[in-house]
Amino acid sequence: MVDKNNDKMEKVISLCKRRGFVFQGSEIYGGLAGTWDYGPLGVALKKNIENIWWNMFVDLRSDVYGLDAAILMNEKVWKASGHVDSFSDPLVEDKKTKKRYRADHLLEEAGVNIAGMTISEMSEQISEKGIKSPDGNEFGDVQSFKMMFETKIGASEDAGITYLRPETAGGIFVNFKNVVDAFHPKLPFGIAQIGKAFRNEIAPRDFIFRVRELEQMEIEFFVREETWEENFEHWRKNVWDYVDQIGLPRDLVHELEVSEEDRAHYSKRTIDFEFDYPFGRKELYGLAYRGNYDLTKHKEGSGANIDYVDSESGEKILPHVIEPSLGVGRTFLAILTSAYTEDKIDGEARTFLKLSPKVAPIKVAVFPLLKNKPELVAKAQEIFEMIRKEIPQIMFDTNGNVGKRYRRQDEIGTPFCVTVDFETIESENPEDAEVTVRDRDTGKQERVKILELLNHLKNLLN
Ligand code: ATP
Repeated sequence: MVDKNNDKMEKVISLCKRRGFVFQGSEIYGGLAGTWDYGPLGVALKKNIENIWWNMFVDLRSDVYGLDAAILMNEKVWKASGHVDSFSDPLVEDKKTKKRYRADHLLEEAGVNIAGMTISEMSEQISEKGIKSPDGNEFGDVQSFKMMFETKIGASEDAGITYLRPETAGGIFVNFKNVVDAFHPKLPFGIAQIGKAFRNEIAPRDFIFRVRELEQMEIEFFVREETWEENFEHWRKNVWDYVDQIGLPRDLVHELEVSEEDRAHYSKRTIDFEFDYPFGRKELYGLAYRGNYDLTKHKEGSGANIDYVDSESGEKILPHVIEPSLGVGRTFLAILTSAYTEDKIDGEARTFLKLSPKVAPIKVAVFPLLKNKPELVAKAQEIFEMIRKEIPQIMFDTNGNVGKRYRRQDEIGTPFCVTVDFETIESENPEDAEVTVRDRDTGKQERVKILELLNHLKNLLN
């Protein structure tokens, strides 16, 4: 559900649909709450977000190992991790409409500090404060609602139960020993994974902010206990570096030190990185020191020997872990809402996405000045093919006049447009032939030699 008064969100959602970034899941069947489909430009932006992360934290490091674990895991994994018993949210139901809400969110919105509050205390507070549903009705008692999606596995009647993973971290912990045995890494080292996770959210809302099928980019960074603080700082800095890399304005990102009452009991420190979305300041990422809770639980639950053996001293330990956990969808939304800009250019109103070239789904658009002049079209196509070999996220457009094409590219955040005109093809010496390169943010145009175009664009995009 989106707040109808939230003008910017409405505009971003409409742009996403109109231009093929994000569509409502199962739309022609009336939708499925909490699911969204990424269209051609959306998937390109999403892949850029993920590739920058993978590149920074896996490819460019020698102490982090990549992983792609199965989504379906033995149910014992989630029993051992504590998810089966306690991965739940407090639910409250409107007595009349039967609509369901998150009790903690309602209380927070009413200014109540819910840190450490039990389910029954939440019920008391809702009635004491006279909190009513958005439809003005009374609420029933607060209940604990399990958020994991359960599914059956196998064909027989008594098929076993399993769950769609609620976070990617589980797959990392159960593969800890496999990675150690295959690569013999020295501490500290990390295992990284990008993938889908599923949470049966009580009230999916705010477009792709709170969804039931989500994507996470997670690292478990295994450390010796006595070094947790320095490693925590290291990952805190890395989160900020990533924020810079994807072009999020730093002043919209805020660290929230999670209080002891609000932290998981095994965590000695957790920072939420919050973002100023148009609907308020909300969690973008989490960074947690989880002790060695997870490995301890999986060792107990599986009975397997998953100790890490120090190659020099022979000492057996269960390393502690620092976990930076980043949501792909929330990153996507932060990028779009902060990049969305309205201004005037040459006296004409326009909308544009001020995306960092690193994340922009299309880096360069190429046009012939006129679409009905075959020699212009042919030259533009030749240039398009030349650029595409090295800058694959590129688009060719002949629709409408050049002004309209610029507006369309501005709206999807394309940093540069290249136009082939009569001067280009009429140049006496082909080595002198030039095209126009136009900058999205300023609208400024410059003439660039075709021979220098590729390098020129690569420099601009870096
Ligand atoms: P929230 O308090 O907003 O429900 P959380 O604290 O439960 O989030 P974590 O369990 O720490 O979230 O998950 C790590 C990251 O995964 C979050 O920081 C966020 O980026 C992303 N994430 C979690 N739940 C969702 C969701 N329902 N929809 C989209 N992204 C999510």
